[in-house]
Amino acid sequence: MSQQPTSPVRLRSTLGGVPAYVPGKPAAPLEGVTAYKISSNENPYPPLPSVLDAVTEAAASMNRYPDMGVTELTAALSERLGVPATHLATGTGSVAVLAQLIAITCDPGDEVVYAWRSFEAYPIVVALAGATSVQVPLDADARHDLDAMAAAITDRTRLVLVCTPNNPTGPAVREDELRAFLAKVPQDVLVVVDEAYLEFTTEETVPDALAIYRQHPNVAVLRTFSKAYGLAGLRVGYAVAHEEVATALRKAATPFGVTDLAQRAAIASLDAYDELEVRVKELVAERERLVAGLREQGWEVPDAQGNFVWLPLGDEAVPFGQACQARGLTVRPFAGDGVRVTVAEPEATDRLLEVTQEWRSSR
Ligand SMILES: *Cc1c(COP(=O)(O)O)cnc(C)c1O
Repeated sequence: MSQQPTSPVRLRSTLGGVPAYVPGKPAAPLEGVTAYKISSNENPYPPLPSVLDAVTEAAASMNRYPDMGVTELTAALSERLGVPATHLATGTGSVAVLAQLIAITCDPGDEVVYAWRSFEAYPIVVALAGATSVQVPLDADARHDLDAMAAAITDRTRLVLVCTPNNPTGPAVREDELRAFLAKVPQDVLVVVDEAYLEFTTEETVPDALAIYRQHPNVAVLRTFSKAYGLAGLRVGYAVAHEEVATALRKAATPFGVTDLAQRAAIASLDAYDELEVRVKELVAERERLVAGLREQGWEVPDAQGNFVWLPLGDEAVPFGQACQARGLTVRPFAGDGVRVTVAEPEATDRLLEVTQEWRSSR
């Protein structure tokens, strides 16, 4: 192909500050061993037959646009959660709903406060909107420092993100500390509680975010079908928020973004939640086995409330990731900080515990 000319098109200057999302790598094939992808916090179980049937049926109408109002899924969520349909807004994954949340609250230069390290999509969606990230370091236990986050709020703050359980480190915030935090946040600042991993939590102190949203007009709850519901590939998530916020969110959504396949799959998954919950419980049991195994080997891992575990390896994060890769395990290293491993098949846990044991013995 001939050399293409450089494009003179003027792009937004804010793009320079947008970090690239690093997706979890696919499992790398390795001769003679089963490879496991434990790098993206996906659900390792294949879709339930009932969900697959619903999607297959919906596929026959893919020449048509989906229902733009996402009416049936919204109605199903409304009933399930006990919130008015007018308080719901869906999107193509909760990451898209998050981008909508920033689009409806932030003018260029406005600030979004969140803990760091946290979900790597946060700095991307904030920068893309031309808003400014204010990252508040996690505490020594890899938990949100909500006092410091409250102190970081300024006149320019429009949004605060609370990721609970926190991806990638694992701990959830406690109800009492979240309530104390909210008492300090100005009423016109939106606080978004990102509960992508809610279904995996086991701590009694985990907040009832829906109850908190009911009492606080400036609180929104962000949820997804990607993790516990196992629909990561179909892209559907939602926010629960007070009417003015939810209405604005629907305005900011990509028209026809949530496909009919995704809507059908989400409804079928809500209907089949009892079956899905069995899998969630198995993953939680697997998580407990992994955490116990690691601690027995002497690893200091933070409380793990999601479907993943954080290994605070610091500068050894990348070499550890390579050691895992050499054994057919694709994990998610964050250079200089730590490694996140997704809880998946028991065989993946067994192999990971071998690698972590060898790693410790070799140091
Ligand atoms: C995975 C994840 C999401 C969900 O992303 P989707 O776009 O719904 O797939 C949201 N927040 C956090 C913290 C996550 O880890």
